[in-house]
Amino acid sequence: MRTVQVGQYGGTEVLAVADLPVPMCGPEQILVKVLAAGVNFIDTYQRSGLYPLPTPFTLGREGSGEVVEVGANVSGIEVGALVAWPAVQGSYAEYVTMSAADCIVVPTDIDGNTACAAMLQGMTAHYLVTSVFDVKPKDVALVHAAAGGVGLLLCQLIAARGGTVIGTVSTEDKATAARLAGAHHIIRYDREDVAQSVREITNGNGVDVVYDGVGASTFEASLQSLTLRGLMVTFGNASGPIPPFELLRLSGLGSLSIIRPTLNDYIATHEEMQWRADELFAGVVGGTLNFAIGGTYPLSDAARAQDDLEGRRTSGKLLLIPEH
Ligand code: NDP
Repeated sequence: MRTVQVGQYGGTEVLAVADLPVPMCGPEQILVKVLAAGVNFIDTYQRSGLYPLPTPFTLGREGSGEVVEVGANVSGIEVGALVAWPAVQGSYAEYVTMSAADCIVVPTDIDGNTACAAMLQGMTAHYLVTSVFDVKPKDVALVHAAAGGVGLLLCQLIAARGGTVIGTVSTEDKATAARLAGAHHIIRYDREDVAQSVREITNGNGVDVVYDGVGASTFEASLQSLTLRGLMVTFGNASGPIPPFELLRLSGLGSLSIIRPTLNDYIATHEEMQWRADELFAGVVGGTLNFAIGGTYPLSDAARAQDDLEGRRTSGKLLLIPEH
């Protein structure tokens, strides 16, 4: 089967399509034929070595696919079922094995691409607005990269909970996408002063929460945009990791709080993962949540997909489709 491997850390030139045997399905596992593998920023951090893994390894953590074999000790999942998963290393491949607890059985009214998109980015947006900061009506949130994969979902979920979204984007097309997703105000952070614009929009108050997946280039403006006792949520490093930070500054900035969460800790049990998936799928079926697929690529074009993602040329979810 074809896989996309990293043999040494580096740019997208290190990605290599490699033929490996289809993995054996253990008694506690299922074997899945991958129909879509999600492209996420974490894949680029693993490729570059920012989040190191022992090399060589197969990239990818998110996907959806058809169950083709079920281990002897697994119950509740049948051959032929459509499943999706947010955190199975090695998903840039034609087949993957996983434990039943690692995946969600997809309801029949959800298609495979949507199910895949709901996993890593969907569950991330969900835990950010429910469990990290429980967004309520009248809350005002600053969402960076509001037209990105996580960003478009944050806009929709915050707006659905009655919150106000101020989104940052780098192009007019992205501004339109973020507005369609529910952003009430847009800041072009490529040419506007973010903290100053936030103060103008909020009559000087600042925002209750900042969702910042951009990292190094936005961190300082994010802090300056918060209201008294606001919460800084730094959840990613698309522009690079944040340098060491002096905690005492949080006091001078208005008794701010800061959190650096990661998805795995918010899908710590299968029940929690299932709850997030159920709410996301209910949003799709109810017409309140849309997973915009920003691009599909053959599995063998993973490098091009990552170049587009890191080159800021994309909006929404990118998927790799194995050729089989
Ligand atoms: P996106 O689709 O949001 O792509 C990243 C976006 O960031 C770009 O489109 C771009 O939007 C913006 N950006 C700003 N500066 C840069 C830069 N220098 N280089 C590249 N992009 C830049 O990606 P994802 O939705 O996959 O991920 C968003 C963030 O969320 C990432 O940091 C990721 O690591 C993080 N994440 C964290 C998780 C967690 O649990 N902690 C889980 C999932 C994702 P624009 O052109 O508008 O500036």
